[in-house]
Amino acid sequence: MTKRRDAWAEIDLEAVVHNVRTLNALTPATTQFMAVVKANAEGHGAHPVAKAALHAGAHSLGVATVGEGVDLRDAGIEAPILILNQPPKTALDEVVDRDLAVTATTIDFLYELAGAAQLGGKVARYHLKLNTGMNRLGVRPTEAVTLLQEAASLGAITLEGVFTHFATADIEGDWDAGNQVTLFDTAIRSIRDAGIDPGIVHAANSAATILMPEAHYDMVRCGIAVVGLQPSKHTARVVNLKPVMSVYANVVFDHEIGIGEGVGYGLDWVSGKPCSILTLPIGYADGIPRAASGKMEVLVVGKRAKQVGRVCMDQMMVAIDKNVGVVAGDTCVIVGTQADEAVTIDDIASAAGTINYEIACALGRRLERAYL
Ligand SMILES: *Cc1c(COP(=O)(O)O)cnc(C)c1O
Repeated sequence: MTKRRDAWAEIDLEAVVHNVRTLNALTPATTQFMAVVKANAEGHGAHPVAKAALHAGAHSLGVATVGEGVDLRDAGIEAPILILNQPPKTALDEVVDRDLAVTATTIDFLYELAGAAQLGGKVARYHLKLNTGMNRLGVRPTEAVTLLQEAASLGAITLEGVFTHFATADIEGDWDAGNQVTLFDTAIRSIRDAGIDPGIVHAANSAATILMPEAHYDMVRCGIAVVGLQPSKHTARVVNLKPVMSVYANVVFDHEIGIGEGVGYGLDWVSGKPCSILTLPIGYADGIPRAASGKMEVLVVGKRAKQVGRVCMDQMMVAIDKNVGVVAGDTCVIVGTQADEAVTIDDIASAAGTINYEIACALGRRLERAYL
C-alpha cells in the first residue's frame, strides 16, 4: 500500500488468529464459533478480519445488514453468514440470491421471506430471535412455539437456529443475565417438546463467551474480542486478547510557543510555560472523539504526551517540553505501543466517556489500513 497520508492504522491479522483461537478454546469442541464482523469488523476491515477468523477456525460470520453480507460474498467468502437483524422486505431477493441467513422476529416477515425464496427457487435459512429480557428485538419465549408451527407450514424456508442476546453479560455473575439463560433454556425446551428442532442454539456475545460458560450452547458470536478489545473490565482477568489495531501519525508541523499562548479553536488550552507544539494530521473525522479534547495522551518518543486544545476535524495538537527534540516527520503513536509505554482504544474511550466499541468503529471510518 502506498501511504497517502501521515496518519494511518495498522491491522495485525496474526492477533486476530490468536484471539479467535483463544476464545474458541474457552468453549467445548462441539460449540461453533461465529466471528461477528459487522461495522467493517468494528473498524478493522471486514474482509481481512473475516478471512483471518475463518482461517483460525471460525465456522461462520455475523453481520448487521444485508449490505455487509453482500459485501462479504462479493469478496469471495463462501462461509455461512447470518444477518443479526431482520432486514426490510425490499432486501429479501438479495438475501435469497446471495445465500444469507437472516434473523426473524415476526411471522409476517417469514411470509415475505418464503415468498422471496419461492420466487428465487431456493430455500431461505432463518434464525428465530427470542427476547429474553433485553427488550430490543425478538418474540417472547411463550410465543415461539406458535410462531414456529405456523412457519413450518410455509415452504421454501428452513429454521436454522434459535437465539437470544444478553443485556448484562459484561457484568460477572449478573442476576439478570442468569435469568435470561433460564428463560432461554425454558423456551428451547418447549420448542423441542413441540417436536420442532431448533437447529443451532446460540446466545453468547464476547462477554458471555468469556464469563458465562453456561451460555455457550451450540455456537458463540464474538465481535469485539476477535479484534482484541475486552468487552468489559471483568473479562481482562479471564482471557488474554491481543489488540489488533494500532494507529500512528507523523508530526506534520512543529514549533515553539511562549508562556500564555493559546492553542486550537477557542484557544481553550493556554501554555503555562514555553513549550513545543506538535501538529498531528488526525482528527475527529478519523475517529478521535472531540469529547476527548485535552483529556487524551499520545506517545511521543516512547513517552506519554498531552493532547492539547480542541481536537479538530482533521488535526490535533500535542504539547511537549521544548528540549525533547521531536521534529516534523517523526512518528507518534495514537493507539499502540512505543518503547515501554502503551496507549489503548480503551484510554481514548474513557477520555471521551464512551466504550471501546464506539472508538474502534470510528477509527475505521477514514484512516487507511495497512495489514500486517
Ligand atoms: C454485535 C453482536 C454480537 C457481538 O457482540 P460483541 O460484544 O462485539 O462480541 C453478538 N450478537 C449480536 C446479536 C450482536 O448484535
